[in-house]
Order: sequence, then structure tokens, then C-alpha cells
Amino acid sequence: MRWSNYYLMTAREAPRDAEVTSHRLMARAGLLRRLAAGIYTMQPAGWRTLRKLMGNVRREMERAGAIELSMPAIQPAELWEESERWTKYGVELLRMEDRHGRRFCFGPTHEEVVTDLVRRDVKSYRQLPINLFQIQTKFRDEIRPRFGLMRGREFLMKDAYSFDADEEGLDRSYRAMHAAYSRIFEACGLEYSVVEADSGTIGGSSSHEFMVLADTGESAVASCAACGYGANVERAETGVLPVPAAGGAEAPREVSTPGTTTVAQVAELLEVEPAQVVKTLIYETDDGLAAVAIRGDREVNEVKLLNVLGGLGLRLATAEQVEAATGGPLGFSGPVGLPADVRLVVDESARALAGFVCGANSGDRHFASVRWDRDVASARPVEWVDVMTAVHGDPCPRCSGGELRLSRGIEVGHIFKLGTVYSEKMNCTFTDDSGRLQPMEMGCYGLGIGRTAAAAIEQGHDKDGIIWPKPLAPFTVVLSSLDPGDEAVNSAADTLYEELVGALAPGGFDVLYDDRAERPGVKFKDADLVGFPVRVVVGARSLASGGAEVSNRSDGEREVVALDEVAEDVVRRL
Ligand code: ATP
Ligand code: MG
Repeated sequence: MRWSNYYLMTAREAPRDAEVTSHRLMARAGLLRRLAAGIYTMQPAGWRTLRKLMGNVRREMERAGAIELSMPAIQPAELWEESERWTKYGVELLRMEDRHGRRFCFGPTHEEVVTDLVRRDVKSYRQLPINLFQIQTKFRDEIRPRFGLMRGREFLMKDAYSFDADEEGLDRSYRAMHAAYSRIFEACGLEYSVVEADSGTIGGSSSHEFMVLADTGESAVASCAACGYGANVERAETGVLPVPAAGGAEAPREVSTPGTTTVAQVAELLEVEPAQVVKTLIYETDDGLAAVAIRGDREVNEVKLLNVLGGLGLRLATAEQVEAATGGPLGFSGPVGLPADVRLVVDESARALAGFVCGANSGDRHFASVRWDRDVASARPVEWVDVMTAVHGDPCPRCSGGELRLSRGIEVGHIFKLGTVYSEKMNCTFTDDSGRLQPMEMGCYGLGIGRTAAAAIEQGHDKDGIIWPKPLAPFTVVLSSLDPGDEAVNSAADTLYEELVGALAPGGFDVLYDDRAERPGVKFKDADLVGFPVRVVVGARSLASGGAEVSNRSDGEREVVALDEVAEDVVRRL
């Protein structure tokens, strides 16, 4: 491809809304263009990158036994009502009506459609297992679309769905997808880790996320270097925390704590550690109010909490709601004497405390020397749960002596064991080998195409631009002719171009020939910005010194190579 005929316009400035490196560089390199919030046109060079990635993903899916199909983006509401997600999926689901008033959504994911397909076609254990995949456009009306392809509203996803006769089968399918994902991300040269994940609105029993480690990642990951445990902070557990000094042999007493609305103020006034204070937050759930008690020095993890409390969402109760339910003002709630109609869940971190301080459900009052068994659990039901947010330095939940580290990650892939959640609701059954009707065991496996490309840039760039991993570069080679007006240079460059195209990809080409009438400085800058892995430069000067100058984008070291050896040299570099 000659650049002079190609559609690739670079820009000096990034758009103002581009907050992260990958978005800035993709925009400046002319790979994408914003149409509306979270909605992008992939320009030709950017599309080449995505196409290469999709090719790789397709190969690995097929190698793992998955079969490609294409499902509609527009999906009827009735299917989503069967799975109970029409309301459950919430505001991210783009709902619409056709001219007859029939309701549809633009698919954010395809469990419903694929389950409907398979329940019609597959009847017997002899037809299982099956794994179907597609690469297709999804729409999710994200609250905060940002970071370009990283969190779009319209985006490309590879999604695969496995159907098995039993749990062992599901295990095998899941492991095959796990291995395929690892191969895909390794082939892209990405540094990633696989962590335990929350199963979210999709539902199901177990799931893992593939995280590309990067400071700009929107996910937080807790991991243990000693044993390899890793989990999204949304679900990370911790080992048992060291317990502060015990007390509480004496009877609980009510103390005056005027004006203390934070744990720090209470702890200071009563001369105890914040860890000896139990903080109690009141939440509004789908079925009334719930009180959550946790150690004063720790934070509630709302993803874990929602899993415990159930329902579609949570929000902190208002001051009026707290007052009406507990009899005390906001900031002074506590488990002692809490009315029985407020559900009480207590984090394990607080359970270990004896003789703690807590709010007295009365203005400017706290209790001290409280014990769970004597003062709370004897009077009302208590649920002991894990709803704590893990922090850096916490003990590892899996090994002894290990410590959790927190880092940022970009979630590029997510694999779930769904079990029979969808097959039961949607009646996707088969006859087993003894003639009984059984629900199929399902798994689902998502991989963000655009997000993976963006993650590759977050990991591969320098001040001048993108440093693509070879398999994702829009073109693997840029051939820059520095003096297109010079006959000798022109003819040498033309010959090189023909040779390179032939050498690299018989029947195709992967060379962008920069024959534009631009200054050398512009060509160099553009080549670095777009990030072609190998650059070949021909000019009057290089010819005088014996040939063409060849360099890798990754280190920039230039080498003069005789013209008739350039193709061979480039093949070697790739
Ligand atoms: P997130 O927590 O980042 O919103 P998710 O858990 O909603 O992700 P899944 O439903 O598991 O994501 O989707 C599978 C994959 O699709 C993700 O691993 C990610 O690579 C990609 N993906 C999800 N949402 C987006 C988005 N808004 N823009 C681009 N890619 C996305
Ligand atoms: Mg999401």
C-alpha cells in the first residue's frame, strides 16, 4: 500500500477527551475517530489492527474446538424476560421499540439468544458438548464511557458459549477456553494475569478475568507473590487480620461522645484504636433496610455486599431513613438494640473483636466494652459474612505468611462457569444416556477486541508513539522514501517495495510505502507515532552509504543493509 493513496492521517494533538495514553495515541495515529460518546469509527489502519487480532482470536477459538456463528445484535424482550434480565440488567441495556410497539434491546451480551438457539436444535447427550462463538458488536449504555476503545458503549467482543452434559464436561470446556485465552494474550505479547472474579449480572458459580497490568487499568487486582493467589478486588478475600487487644470482660457501658461522627474522632476521644470501633452503615436494599457492621479501620466492599444481600442494587440510607429505623441520627448507628426488622450482617473482621466500641443508636452516644455473643447475638439474628475490601498488605487468604499486593489491571477477557442458571430458566434441556431430561451445563467466555488492542498500547509505547507487538501492528513494515523526487531513490524504493511485499506475505502485503511528498522529519515522526515494528528508509544518503537503513521500532537502532539483502533482513527481524 502506498501511503500517498492510503487513508491514514496523523495529528499532532489528541482530542481533549482523551485521558489515557492508548486513546491519545490511537487518535493521533489516525486509527479511530469519535462519532458520539463511547462510539467510534475504526479508521482503515485501526481496523487492520482489529482485524489481525480477530484473526488470531478466531484461530485460537477454532483450535480449542469452538465453532463460529453470527447472532443478531437486536434481540426481542421476551427472551430477556425468560432469563429475568430485562429488568435485572439495568440501565446499561439499550431498549427500543419497533413500529408495532414490540420491544427489543441491542445485545450487550448473547446468553439469551444462544440458549434459545441451542434449546431448539440440541436434544440429546450425543450432540454435546458444543461451543459456539462469534465476534460481534455489542452495545452497553455505560455510565461513563471513556478511554476510547477501553470502555466504549458500542464495542466488538468475541463471545463464546459452551454447552455440556455435566459438570465435568463444563470443567473441560472452561479449561480449554482458559488455555485458548492464554495463547491469545501471549501471542499479542501482553503481560497479563488471571484472577478470580465476581460473576456480576451474568450470574453463575465461578469466573476468572484476564487482566493486563497497567496503571491506567480501571480494575483493582489483589495478588499474593508467595502463592500466586489473585483476585479482582471486587471479590478478593483476605486472611485473618491481626486482632487488636481484647477487652470486654466488664459490662457494656454507654458513653457520651458529643460531635463525633467519624471512626477517627470516636477512637481518639475514647482512646482506642480505630480497629476496636465497629462502624455500622445502613443500606437500602430491594427488601428493606440492612445494617452492615465492619471494623472501623476497614471499608465495605459493595460488590460483595450486594451478593450477600441480593437484589438489583444498594444505596446508603438517608439520614431520615436511619433515624426512623434506628431511633438515632446518622453516624451513631450500632448493632446493640438495633430493631429486629433491620437485617444485620457483620463482617468477619468485626466478629473477631471482643470489647469493642459501637454507636448506641442515639445522638452523641456510643457503647464501649461490647461483645457480640453477650450483647448482640443473644437478642437478635446476626449474619456473619465477608464484605470487606482487601487492602495492600493484608494477609493472603490462601497461604500463610503471604501478603496481598494491590495493582491496577485492564480486564481484557472474562470467562464464567454459568452452570444451569440460564438453561433452567430458559428450559434448555437434553435427554441424558438414561433417558432423563437434564438442563445443560453452560459456560460463557468474553474477550474485548478493542480493549485488548488499547491494552497493548498501554503496555507498548514511548514518548514518540505506539510500539505495537508485531501481530497487532496495522502494517508490520513501513518503507520510507526520503527523496521521492530523486530518480535513483525512487527506483530503489519501488524495487524494495515489490520485494518486501513478495517476501513478507505471498498473495498479500503488509508494507506501507511512505512515498508522500513530505519532509523526512514528518515521515520519521509519523512512523514512530503509528508504531510500525520495522522501518526501512531509502534516501540519497542511505544509497551513498551502501543501501537502505533498517531499524526496529522497539529499539530504534539503525543498520545500513545492502539493497538486495533488505527483504531477507526484514523477514529475519519479523
Ligand atoms: P467491566 O467490568 O470492565 O465493565 P464486564 O465485566 O462488564 O467489564 P464482560 O461482561 O465480562 O465485561 O465482557 C467481556 C469482555 O468484553 C470484557 O472482558 C472486556 O474485554 C470487554 N468489554 C466489556 N465492556 C466493555 C466496554 N464497555 N468497552 C469495551 N470492551 C468491553
Ligand atoms: Mg461492564
